[in-house]
Amino acid sequence: MESKDLKYWQDRRATLHFEGRAFIDGEYRASENGKRFDCVSPIDGKVLTEIAECGASDIDVAVAAARRAFEQRVWCGLNPRQRKAILLRWAASIGEHLDELALLETLDAGKPVADTTTVDVPGAAYCVQWFAEAIDKSGGEVAPADHHLVGLVTREPIGVVAAVVPWNFPLLMASWKFAPALAAGNSVVLKPSEKSPLTAIRIAQLAHEAGIPAGVFNVVPGTGEAGKQLALHRDVDCLAFTGSTQVGKLIMQYAGQSNLKRVWLELGGKSPNIVMPDCPDLDRAAQAAASAIFYNMGEMCTAGSRLLVHRDIKATFLDKLLAAARRYQPGNPMDPNTSMGAIVDHAQMERVLDYIRAGREEANLIAGGSRVHCDSGGFYIEPTIFDNDKPDARIVREEIFGPVLSVLTFDTVDEAVRIANESEYGLAAAVWTSDLATAHDVSRRLRAGTVWVNCYDEGGDMNFPFGGYKQSGNGRDKSLHALEKYTELKSTLIRLQ
Ligand code: NAP
Ligand code: MG
Repeated sequence: MESKDLKYWQDRRATLHFEGRAFIDGEYRASENGKRFDCVSPIDGKVLTEIAECGASDIDVAVAAARRAFEQRVWCGLNPRQRKAILLRWAASIGEHLDELALLETLDAGKPVADTTTVDVPGAAYCVQWFAEAIDKSGGEVAPADHHLVGLVTREPIGVVAAVVPWNFPLLMASWKFAPALAAGNSVVLKPSEKSPLTAIRIAQLAHEAGIPAGVFNVVPGTGEAGKQLALHRDVDCLAFTGSTQVGKLIMQYAGQSNLKRVWLELGGKSPNIVMPDCPDLDRAAQAAASAIFYNMGEMCTAGSRLLVHRDIKATFLDKLLAAARRYQPGNPMDPNTSMGAIVDHAQMERVLDYIRAGREEANLIAGGSRVHCDSGGFYIEPTIFDNDKPDARIVREEIFGPVLSVLTFDTVDEAVRIANESEYGLAAAVWTSDLATAHDVSRRLRAGTVWVNCYDEGGDMNFPFGGYKQSGNGRDKSLHALEKYTELKSTLIRLQ
């Protein structure tokens, strides 16, 4: 078997085709006014290709195509097992294009190819497969009713679903939206981030080849303005968003200003990772704490960006943490040995460096803190750790979305829970303890959509709902519950003669 080393990926890159047009109503199209923007690789700062910049008129055309497909029932009118068969073909095709899609994702977003080949692309294919397999097995209810009635409770597709997604897991986050939405019978218009549109654009063609009818799956690359046009559109029935809390708030306003479309928000986080003095395995906890913040360059909504360590074990734990962090030195994302790649773009790198500057004034820098590999032209930041005794410091409160960890200290369980919950966010949290009662007690008191005990970032297949409390959003991706977002509940009451 060919070994997929750096040279393999460099050779593959030389023949890679970059499609930058929108995919609307079954075909690739330039934007109506011909506008385009540069797609830059954070690996070396060079332009990969140009991308169609969809504006209001392109959004209108895409939404109209989606609506037409829905009204004509070319997709929602298929039997569930027929939709399943087509989606399974698409999932298989995404898997067959693993190297191409993984390389596009790596070049576009700076993610290590070691991750895009094992997490992003296989995860997206599996998500499509999972919802395909679910859709001919989930039925409705026959409700208890008076004797003269038969009462059915059924779920129906909502209609046109728009998905607006971020750049940190471009294909995977998109799949968490479009897979359940399509499985349920909706038409979809997907707006990828301008920082990472390539894989979304590419899989549209694969969807078409797998048999998804024209108009059912559309991809409209563009800036935030394209997302705004979708959120304001009066013929979009549902908007599923993953991104920042700031933009999430705007999306809700746009829905209110237009047609009260259903809005689902998966937003930011500032997740606490609590290490109790009776932690069962400090080495494993330290490795997990490093991975929780340095995996994917810290560009993780669930990043364990606030590490809470009990005072009694702090010195020992910090030694282990610093050793674990050293394994995340940034390198060329196309090298399969690299575990930390490039920050997605220059602007995001500057944002992270600003936080590091603020952190130097508020806290004690104990690892990293600098941009590296500047001569590559790319955007790389070292794994950075602050020892922080001020829970109200900016770097502790605000989501950085980069490889920057704050370590906080606590003395009692109550204090740990209080600090952990002192955040506007509530996406995820973790606690490390050997005591069953502490594990249950703390996980109940943590205000977060996911709580890990003695682990971090365990995905648990597709079976666990994923989403946030508080300003981390509403609604849940993954699991059968995700289908609830893309369906309306209907009661049908039949009077018997
Ligand atoms: P973002 O700036 O909020 O952008 C998200 C998406 O919204 C992008 O496609 C963006 O387009 C678009 N957008 C920007 N302004 C808009 C507007 N006014 N109206 C409608 N759409 C608009 O977030 P990001 O920087 O891409 O991603 C990072 C954020 O995502 C973090 O806060 C992270 O925590 C969150 N996230 C959450 C989850 C979760 O499941 N909870 C998962 C991953 C990421 P452009 O990029 O083209 O501007
Ligand atoms: Mg890019």
